[in-house]
Amino acid sequence: MREKVLTFEEALAEVLAHCRAVERSDRVETVALKEAAGRVLAANVVADRDQPPFDRSTRDGYALRAEDVSGTLSVVGTVRAGQRWDGRTLAAGESVEIMTGAALPAGANAVVMVEHVTADDRMLRVEDGRQLYAGENVVPRGAEAKEGDVVLPVGRGLAAAEIAVAASCGVGRVEVFRKSSVAIVATGDELVELDATMDGWQIRNSNSYALEALVHAAGGVAQRTEIARDTVECLRVRIDAGRNANLLLLTGGVSMGKYDLVEHVLSELGAEFFFTGALIQPGKPIVFGRLPRVGDAGQWTYFFGLPGNPVSTQVCFHLFVAPMVWALGGRSALGPQFVEARLTDAVRGGARVTRFLPAALTGAWDGVSVRVIGWQGSGDVAGNARGNCYVVLPANVAAFAAGETVRVLLR
Ligand code: AMP
Ligand code: MG
Repeated sequence: MREKVLTFEEALAEVLAHCRAVERSDRVETVALKEAAGRVLAANVVADRDQPPFDRSTRDGYALRAEDVSGTLSVVGTVRAGQRWDGRTLAAGESVEIMTGAALPAGANAVVMVEHVTADDRMLRVEDGRQLYAGENVVPRGAEAKEGDVVLPVGRGLAAAEIAVAASCGVGRVEVFRKSSVAIVATGDELVELDATMDGWQIRNSNSYALEALVHAAGGVAQRTEIARDTVECLRVRIDAGRNANLLLLTGGVSMGKYDLVEHVLSELGAEFFFTGALIQPGKPIVFGRLPRVGDAGQWTYFFGLPGNPVSTQVCFHLFVAPMVWALGGRSALGPQFVEARLTDAVRGGARVTRFLPAALTGAWDGVSVRVIGWQGSGDVAGNARGNCYVVLPANVAAFAAGETVRVLLR
């Protein structure tokens, strides 16, 4: 098999190109809006009326004509949210007491705040020197959305902000994509399940659990298979069981060791490989490709062969797998998410690969900063769990100073 090792940037571009090419699923279902958090829209949500549906006051105060602000005005009525003032069109020198959220009476073009006036039931004086522009403290009808506008497009993930929009349009049930299925195959002769009695040399399978949680968080449904042993026969059976999912994830068995047979078996089963390694640490042996589906001519299932070390598995998921789960679940293409933050302490560099170090990002008001966690390398699940993100150290940079701004991979 020919090796194809890419830089981090090349590997990411390759995965994202495939994410963009994923065909929109026609597997759609309808769910109640209150069940829809975390789902992805399969149909546009359209404004059923102008928003706001009337010129809306943003303050408690008095609606008037801005040009009348100096002088004494008469107060000719009151209007509150949920009501319409159906007196006449306001004439020069008239005002109407108005509450936040109420519709502006015809003829008024601004609202002066109650804090800025002296008033009784009949008369109003705006404080001396106060200016008012036409439109002040008013959101005009249709300024947020016009009837018929797409307010949430197909492919948008639904969280609180989007759910508020759907609710404001009276949409109680939404069409969403079915969740994509993600098969998870952990490989390794040393692995045992959690309930097994074990000897001192064996290792508990933690990757399948981490991946299941990550898949779930990315909006997919995980299908965990039994552990695959490091034999061609067993790997073949497990891969076959997972190859008709929407995505197949394997962990372990992709390094250069004598028992690392995953690529070999994938290749035998007709896989096409897009890359067989990336210049990253942890995660260098990662494999990305696709397998022909069984009984589904011309259809392919994407797979990732993730390095078995638990932190490698998780970093590779955040970098490469999450965008694919999102894309397969119908989300408009989205890459891994990075922010920038200042390092609390100096960090040694000099690696020839892009590194991702477990780190703690603190979002303090007076300075977002990130601190690299002490850890024992890519097998250290406990060290990894003491962080909440990964500091990105670009390849071939000798050192990173305290206070320097670095990229941070969110998780
Ligand atoms: P491999 O990539 O198969 O060479 O495995 C690399 C390291 O990760 C070895 O120390 C394995 O024991 C460990 N490892 C592999 N798979 C898992 C897993 N599912 N859960 C926990 N550790 C694993
Ligand atoms: Mg192994």
